[in-house]
Amino acid sequence: MNRQERNAERIKQLHPIVQHYAHLLITQLEELGYSPMVTQGLRTYDEQNALYAQGRTKPGQKVTNAKGGESWHNYGLALDLGFMDKEGKLTYDVDWNIVGKVGQKLGFSWGGAWTIFKDRPHFEITGGLRIKDVYNNQEANTLIALHLAPYAIQEPKISKWAKDAVEKAKLKGIDQWSNPQEYITPQILEYVMFKLGLIDEVKPEGMTKERLMVALMRGKLL
Ligand SMILES: [Zn+2]
Repeated sequence: MNRQERNAERIKQLHPIVQHYAHLLITQLEELGYSPMVTQGLRTYDEQNALYAQGRTKPGQKVTNAKGGESWHNYGLALDLGFMDKEGKLTYDVDWNIVGKVGQKLGFSWGGAWTIFKDRPHFEITGGLRIKDVYNNQEANTLIALHLAPYAIQEPKISKWAKDAVEKAKLKGIDQWSNPQEYITPQILEYVMFKLGLIDEVKPEGMTKERLMVALMRGKLL
């Protein structure tokens, strides 16, 4: 599995709303020339407890202060990032201030901005919820859904005539990629030209090619 496939696999396990922002985070970092790797997404309680034991009852360095249920990873609201260097190896040697800012702009809380336990690879979206609100709470999923709702991607609002035109176009087998001009009827075009002040009167038959040329030339658009 390559980097992109592994990222996709891990992001898929996150909360649906966080998935959207995780994809944006990855894409925007890639556009800046980084090769981000999602090293951790969703973490089970058992995995969290094993991690907590590290540096305490098991050998190794302490990597977390959270037991099972105490990390946003356990709820699919957090992801950790590493980066791929030129040799294809995992590295954390990047300009974290830039990386962190990209995440914060998208609405993530970034672990690198924390004061008590700095965790620079860590990004989470919790909608203001605290762990104690959801820990051992049967209603955790409902609470999470409520708090993340403002992050949901809003469907663009389309006026009725535009919706009708799109539906008609679809029935004719036209989609936005194949023939966009078919969405606009001569009447709509006529109306738009009128509103733009490029024609003085609206004719019921709608815009013709000849009148369009004249109007565009008059508006110095041709
Ligand atoms: Zn983390």
